[in-house]
Amino acid sequence: MTDYRSPWMDDELEMFRDAARRFVENEILPKDAGWREQHLTDRGIWNKAGEYGLLCTDIPEEYGGVGGDVRHEAVLVEELGRRGLTSFGHNVHSILAHYVLNYGSEQQKRDWLPRMASGELVGAIAMTEPGAGSDLQGVKTRALRDGDDYVLNGSKTFISNGFHAGLVGVVAKTDPGRGAKGISIIMVETKDLPGYRVGRVLEKIGQHGWDTAEMYFDDCRVPASSLLGPAEGQGFAQLMQDLPYERTFLALGGVAAMEYALELTVDYTRSRKAFGQSLLEMQNTRFKLAEVKTTAQVARVFIDDCIQRLAQGKLDTVTASMAKLWITEMQCKVMDECLQLFGGYGYMKEYPISQLYVDSRVQRIYGGANEIMKEIIARSL
Ligand SMILES: Cc1cc2nc3c(=O)[nH]c(=O)nc-3n(C[C@H](O)[C@H](O)[C@H](O)COP(=O)(O)OP(=O)(O)OC[C@H]3O[C@@H](n4cnc5c(N)ncnc54)[C@H](O)[C@@H]3O)c2cc1C
Repeated sequence: MTDYRSPWMDDELEMFRDAARRFVENEILPKDAGWREQHLTDRGIWNKAGEYGLLCTDIPEEYGGVGGDVRHEAVLVEELGRRGLTSFGHNVHSILAHYVLNYGSEQQKRDWLPRMASGELVGAIAMTEPGAGSDLQGVKTRALRDGDDYVLNGSKTFISNGFHAGLVGVVAKTDPGRGAKGISIIMVETKDLPGYRVGRVLEKIGQHGWDTAEMYFDDCRVPASSLLGPAEGQGFAQLMQDLPYERTFLALGGVAAMEYALELTVDYTRSRKAFGQSLLEMQNTRFKLAEVKTTAQVARVFIDDCIQRLAQGKLDTVTASMAKLWITEMQCKVMDECLQLFGGYGYMKEYPISQLYVDSRVQRIYGGANEIMKEIIARSL
């Protein structure tokens, strides 16, 4: 891949990449193993990322952002993904910032975006509940209007950035009788909020350093101005409209992980000897890695096209769903093939390929399960 440059890259972005690389190598890489042990990052990494100018990179400067575009976000996703780093959940943070930018009032943008850009507020999106995941219309959390407030009741699970979250986009029913049309996003500032509680940081099979948590809302009162958008009942449409953004970055993380796995596996098989030759000299190894390289390259070209179209505001949900579906399926296949070539060492935690393998698996489940991607794509037939 060394002679390939994404068509959306330019010299200004190369400079931004240098800054992102410095941040990742100095502030994240040395701490990642510790974060995986404790099942969450240190809170300070968010403020550090803000100081480096790496949060809200595609949010306009007038709201405290970096004033770049989706390509800046893409660079940071790549710098993390190419080192197999999954603890720092900046992409979920960025998705929430986008909701605020796209649907928030002027006051909401001024209230929240600068604090998200500095790392003072960590963003999370709380859709999933114990009884409702793929079928979001089934959410039971209620946000009912009472005078100048909304009163929230319900619980959420599997929420990324859940432990550190200071601002949560809570998907709730404001009009329980109206199905999807009764769903709204209520923005909840969690600090010192009576009735709000974070449950356990969940034990996962991978992505150990990323805080995934449960949340409880018991008669939580938030001001009526916490409603995202001008009217109730728009939550479902808001979520749907931003899907291309979310899915492109999920898929890009998958491509970066495949590229990293290929690099690791070529290095390893070149140095490992068996039966008087290196593993890389064996035809099976060369053929497997030829397939992996081809897959990674096809995925790269596809995702680069998505990024370009996203930057131009032209990426549709069906194409983004195809990218999420195919790339994450390939990602899991590639990790499995690569791990196999490491033999027993691939099963050892100290070898990064084992982390890539377990970290990849959830890519086919979150961000909309891949079966839901197929439904969306099939509807366009
Ligand atoms: C590590 C992690 C992080 C997450 N982060 C977040 C987060 O930040 N915020 C958030 O809100 N949620 C988050 N989630 C939740 C995630 O989005 C859901 O797990 C996912 O949407 C699937 O919902 P579910 O787990 O309830 O599975 P279910 O909806 O019960 O589905 C189970 C399986 O059934 C199949 N299935 C479901 N519906 C259909 C259908 N219509 N057609 C065919 N097959 C179907 C699929 O194979 C699916 O995987 C996270 C999950 C994990 C594991």
